[in-house]
Amino acid sequence: MKRLEGRAALVTGAARGIGREIAFLFASEGAAVAVADLSAAESVAAAAEIASATGSRTIGLELDVSKEASCDGAVGEAKKAFGGLDILVNNAGITKDNLVLRMKETDFDAVMSVNLKGAFLMSKAAAKLMLKARFGRIINISSVVGQSGQAGQANYSASKAGLIGLTKSLAREFAPRQVLVNAVAPGFIRTRMTEGLKDEAKAKISEMIPLGRMGEPGEVAKAALFLAGGDSEYITGQVLAVNGGLYM
Ligand code: NAP
Repeated sequence: MKRLEGRAALVTGAARGIGREIAFLFASEGAAVAVADLSAAESVAAAAEIASATGSRTIGLELDVSKEASCDGAVGEAKKAFGGLDILVNNAGITKDNLVLRMKETDFDAVMSVNLKGAFLMSKAAAKLMLKARFGRIINISSVVGQSGQAGQANYSASKAGLIGLTKSLAREFAPRQVLVNAVAPGFIRTRMTEGLKDEAKAKISEMIPLGRMGEPGEVAKAALFLAGGDSEYITGQVLAVNGGLYM
């Protein structure tokens, strides 16, 4: 029996990277999946590829998580297509790195708006359905730097630490209706977000990681699957680190 048979999921920022791997793995485990991203064309293309590889139902949606109307619209589309929404993965995220003294106010606001406010808006929209159904799983993709801090990433690290606070507060509010809310905190994962790093920086990072290498998007997806499925029924308000031991 597939682990997400009969479930409907929406993954934000799912046209590429970690989000795409999560959407793919959930669909492989039988879930109907809404692939939601900034570009409608890329979302639709990724959804079609996932459907043909897994045989599961998928839809591609245009979504800007920083806009409330867009979030409400995407959740409404998923409900219309699948009849409900059981699982939400808040994965969309951006970086605008700089040292604090050089960081523009607009770069701080933009990162907060997508990484933190986006998860709030999507959770609020999805929770209306989940609380009524008395079932739900919300998984927020935080980051190791939300736990450890990082020079040059004050905006990003604050947004990801904020996401942990949001996770715990939603977990407390929604627990009476069996809506579980957890976070995954990846370390350095090989995606577009990290491909810009110089080889020298990548080698240095690998040296700091006890397991001696960067992680793969699929390794984050497996943690999200655990939190989305039936093996995590007594787990809420937690942060699952997938970081090769980088931060303990
Ligand atoms: P990625 O390859 O850059 O993918 C992020 C996706 O989010 C992109 O498809 C992007 O769309 C989309 N997106 C950006 N702004 C959006 C918005 N306002 N609304 C909807 N979608 C939006 O990044 P990734 O590495 O897979 O990261 C996924 C998540 O994991 C992020 O939250 C990131 O912070 C977190 N994370 C990553 C790492 C890592 O090492 N890679 C480590 C820790 C945590 P466009 O392509 O159109 O911009």
